[in-house]
Amino acid sequence: MSSPKFLVSACLVGQKCRYDGKDQARDFLVKAHQAGDVLAVCPEELGGLPTPRPPAEIFQGRVLTHQNVDVTEQYRLGAEKALQIALQAPSLEKIYLKSNSPMCGCGKIYDGSFSGKLTSGDGIFARELKSKLKLPIEPVD
Ligand code: SF4
Repeated sequence: MSSPKFLVSACLVGQKCRYDGKDQARDFLVKAHQAGDVLAVCPEELGGLPTPRPPAEIFQGRVLTHQNVDVTEQYRLGAEKALQIALQAPSLEKIYLKSNSPMCGCGKIYDGSFSGKLTSGDGIFARELKSKLKLPIEPVD
């Protein structure tokens, strides 16, 4: 059984799981993944959301698509499932999360206006990780 050192947003290791069906691969994380050091999760897909899917942002505590469909429950479910996967990997040392996302964003997220503006805050998964898994988190732009 492998012993991953890093928990990573799956889009950062090249999985095409973003809302638009693309990835956000970053070389150093792709290499770490190839070396077997990464546990990659996409909590939005784990919550049952399809790929591609409408973009969503957090507004007044709810996660809403740009057509105002409330996907908060899918986000909560996906974050919980991803957290449970992480909790089964005691070798984890550090977490890399895709910046600005309403799920994985850490410290800054889109402000709910779908205009590209950022505000301070955490995505649903980042919030879970901060409260339940005391590991350093690095947002990746
Ligand atoms: S939920 Fe996280 S891992 Fe999945 S596409 Fe969004 S930022 Fe990437």
